[in-house]
Amino acid sequence: MTDKPGIVITGASGRMGQMLIKTVLDSDKAELAGVVEREGHDWVGQDIGIAMGGAALGVVVTDDAGSAFAGAQAVIDFTAPQATIAFSKLAAEAGCVHVIGTTGMSEAEIAQLDPAAQDTVLVRAGNMSLGVNLLVQLTKKVAAALDEDFDIEVIEAHHHHKVDAPSGTALMLGEAAAEGRGVALAEVSDRGRDGITGARKKGDIGFSAIRGGDIVGEHDVLFAAAGERIVLRHMATDRAIFARGALKAALWGQGKDAGAYDMIDVLGL
Ligand code: NAP
Repeated sequence: MTDKPGIVITGASGRMGQMLIKTVLDSDKAELAGVVEREGHDWVGQDIGIAMGGAALGVVVTDDAGSAFAGAQAVIDFTAPQATIAFSKLAAEAGCVHVIGTTGMSEAEIAQLDPAAQDTVLVRAGNMSLGVNLLVQLTKKVAAALDEDFDIEVIEAHHHHKVDAPSGTALMLGEAAAEGRGVALAEVSDRGRDGITGARKKGDIGFSAIRGGDIVGEHDVLFAAAGERIVLRHMATDRAIFARGALKAALWGQGKDAGAYDMIDVLGL
């Protein structure tokens, strides 16, 4: 036993799951306490090191999330909405900090996380990187400084496996722009233009999604007016930035009061 927080990673075989496992193993501030995959996955029952193509690590992949969470201090979860809702209940029961990177959650699904946040620390963000969270704050400031003569468009690009659009990050940036302008995003959001859509409505915040190849994640917030344009841009080239942010959140959450937090809280931005 050490006094380093024990971390459980869910969705162990996923792109982010594997990156998170490596990040925890490389850290001298945390320990890998468990790894979870869904029932029926062929990694279940295997040593995670061997499943990932390396040497044995003495941590066996389980499909019993409740048992894996018991005795751990944090769960880092980049999976899918329904899985994340189920994990939030189990993490709260086990008293674990729950760090949620899962995107594509509807408002109704996000509301289902509320009971868990009464009992434990829940940190959820559509993007866990320092750079993007800084971009969120910059977007809010620029949107507050400019009037509706500047059309705001959020343009994002991701790899061809991504299943949700707009990305969680694009939505965070849209929310920030709306907040800066003092409007509700739901009232001004313009998504999925196709065909004879009519002219752009003044004050709208538009979203466009590009999907292709192995793009890790790129986001532009465009402020376009007559005669000038401002572009705020973040380009992720390595998933490790999200994993490092998530681990930081798991460590930050130790000893904090129960509640729902985001990366702006974690990074103190
Ligand atoms: P991925 O490679 O498809 O991995 C998803 C993992 O979750 C897989 O291991 C999958 O298992 C597991 N999973 C899915 N549904 C499950 C369920 N019902 N129960 C248990 N496990 C389940 O996807 P990814 O690229 O790693 O991304 C995962 C999520 O993180 C996405 O929502 C993505 O948008 C988000 N993300 C967030 C950030 C951030 O900074 N917040 C950054 C990158 C990605 P199977 O293979 O068996 O389906």
